[in-house]
Amino acid sequence: MRKDPFEFAKPSIVWVCILIGIPAFIFRARQVQEETKQNRAHMQCFANLQQIDLTAQAWALENKKALTDTYSLSDTTILAYMKGSMLPVCPLGGTYSSGTNHGDVPKCSVPGHRLLYPTPMGGYVR
Ligand SMILES: [Zn+2]
Repeated sequence: MRKDPFEFAKPSIVWVCILIGIPAFIFRARQVQEETKQNRAHMQCFANLQQIDLTAQAWALENKKALTDTYSLSDTTILAYMKGSMLPVCPLGGTYSSGTNHGDVPKCSVPGHRLLYPTPMGGYVR
């Protein structure tokens, strides 16, 4: 019977696969976990910005404001429209600010946290 010339290497190949594969798997699992955490935070911030925008628009409509009129998120009459009369909090610690006027969307200070509305034609507006 002929002996396998690579018989000596088989156990070491298994060990190499284990020693590289397990840390690589753990590294990738942590990467995915971090991406999921970031995506969740982004979605929560998006929902907060949407709530602020809708609240500011409702307030503007009720108070007969024009799109060019400015507003402040510290205005207590706008905050009264919010749940608990308070601004929501960005999950990554960003601070919210109003748009330049009622025609603009509110903003978050965290890069990438912004309010975009999908259009029926694809893409986003505002
Ligand atoms: Zn944010």
